[in-house]
Amino acid sequence: MTIRIGIAGITGRMGIYLAEEAAAAATLAGGTSRSRPVGGSAPHFADITALARESDVVIDFTHASTVREHAAALAATETPWVLGTTGYGDEEQAAVEAAAKTIPVIAAANFCTGVNLLLLLAEKLGHALEASQFDAEILEMHHRQKVDAPSGTALALGRAVAAGRGVRLEDVMVSGRDGHTGPRQDGEIGFATLRGGQIIGEHEVSFTAGDEQITLSHRAFDRRVFASGAVRAALWLHPQPAGLYSMRDYLRL
Ligand code: NAD
Repeated sequence: MTIRIGIAGITGRMGIYLAEEAAAAATLAGGTSRSRPVGGSAPHFADITALARESDVVIDFTHASTVREHAAALAATETPWVLGTTGYGDEEQAAVEAAAKTIPVIAAANFCTGVNLLLLLAEKLGHALEASQFDAEILEMHHRQKVDAPSGTALALGRAVAAGRGVRLEDVMVSGRDGHTGPRQDGEIGFATLRGGQIIGEHEVSFTAGDEQITLSHRAFDRRVFASGAVRAALWLHPQPAGLYSMRDYLRL
């Protein structure tokens, strides 16, 4: 018998692809959304608990405001959780970590393989290139509907560079430069955000010295790349013991 995958946020830009990929790889249990969808053949559940009761694993691409409620509900129903939602803060992170004491959770700002390799390379370059010589800057562009900035993936890239340098991103992050900013400081990790049209997701990490520059870049051409990655991660996560996992664990990077 194939496992049953539930989709939190099944009517969203991502949810539509997640439902297709889940149905192709396993059994689609149905989903939740903020408002009852018009049409669509998958069962629609009133809330996350009702969905979890009919699912062996829940894939969640909704909104940062749902994270604490979803963490509590999925832990209470002992349902493994694939968390793709981005833009949440420390309180939500604490709720995710608390849930992971009871259930397996894989949380990733980006479920595509290429970006996870990029994260690894960003950490390695952060480690190899002296912060006093190489200025690290991260540029991202997404569709005009995106509500959080910098993107979760851009922040993950910043954390990767910071980890390579042995510092905390919070201590060196500079985002949204505007006006009289003064000169750039050694060791800063800068962020710039662009929004427009229907760009799926573009990220660039550059390390710039006085006489050379290294740039890593990634472009997603189709949202399906995140959905298929999340469904593969769900199949991997289902039999794992409780704990908080990353795509690095799944990809064995
Ligand atoms: P969207 O707005 O198109 O869809 C959001 C879905 O969640 C909808 O079905 C909506 O009804 C539902 N939803 C929103 N608020 C809710 C609430 N309070 N309760 C229940 N359901 C609610 O958004 P999207 O573009 O599909 O993105 C969803 C999330 O996934 C965002 O946080 C986005 O940044 C993230 N995302 C992550 C990845 C990744 O690989 N991790 C990739 C793309 C997008």
